[in-house]
Amino acid sequence: MFDLAGKVALVTGGNGGIGLGMARGLAQAGAHVVVSGRNREKSAAALRALQGEGLAASEIAADVADEAQVQALFAQLRDQHGRLDILVNNAGTSIRRQPQDMTLAEWTTVMDTNLTSAFLCCRAAYPLLKAAGGGKIINIGSILSIFGAPYAGPYCASKGGIVQYTRSIALAWAKENIQANAVLPGWIDTEMTVGAREQVPGLNERVLARVPVARWGKPEDLAGIAVFLASKASDFVTGTAIPVDGGYAIA
Ligand code: NDP
Repeated sequence: MFDLAGKVALVTGGNGGIGLGMARGLAQAGAHVVVSGRNREKSAAALRALQGEGLAASEIAADVADEAQVQALFAQLRDQHGRLDILVNNAGTSIRRQPQDMTLAEWTTVMDTNLTSAFLCCRAAYPLLKAAGGGKIINIGSILSIFGAPYAGPYCASKGGIVQYTRSIALAWAKENIQANAVLPGWIDTEMTVGAREQVPGLNERVLARVPVARWGKPEDLAGIAVFLASKASDFVTGTAIPVDGGYAIA
């Protein structure tokens, strides 16, 4: 039921953090994973790690906020693999700034990286998924798809938007056997949150006090949901948004 042998998966931002955790899970389930990011050194290291574990993985570099680079990414994917079954829109960024001080360039960077990228990748993936007889789209939101956070305006807006965009494509492509779902991670220990911890005194203690399971998530905590949503096991699940947050959203 969870076997992904013969499937090709693309994970944007798959060269580190949560993306690499999900890529590893998909590859362990049998998929060939294509990890993507802008930083070639990081991608090479991720590839060495995955291949060193005997997993099937390759890399294509792209800035997914850039329309031309997304088109080139999918052209290369089609040439190299001839198919796509699973798309994980995971690339993301955050800029902390008081709303009154946020520049338009900062707003646009976050919206383009977190939300417009998902639109560009879904649009480019559609013909490949359709040609494969259907497929799976996993869009990475956040607990900030649900909750607000001060100084994170474009992050909250983009992560809220990704849930609604997921519902829209789930409906549009339901009859083509394409299931689209969002995953909403809680506080996960990655480069992104190391940065936040450095900027926000007391964040570590607040997270530990607020999260019911009283620990930070690890990138591998997202692997199981990725495999489930990429596999036949989730064929009747579409348009939903699933928190993976140690109970944060219910506490
Ligand atoms: P990291 O900063 O560790 O990783 C972000 C990844 O995105 C990197 O691999 C980076 O690769 C890639 N990336 C960033 N911008 C672009 C771009 N323009 N084009 C292509 N790739 C890009 O963050 P996380 O692993 O923590 O975050 C992954 C996702 O999970 C994000 O969408 C984030 O918002 C979300 N999330 C994270 C949470 C957490 O607590 N960590 C909580 C909730 C959601 P490169 O540098 O090579 O471009």
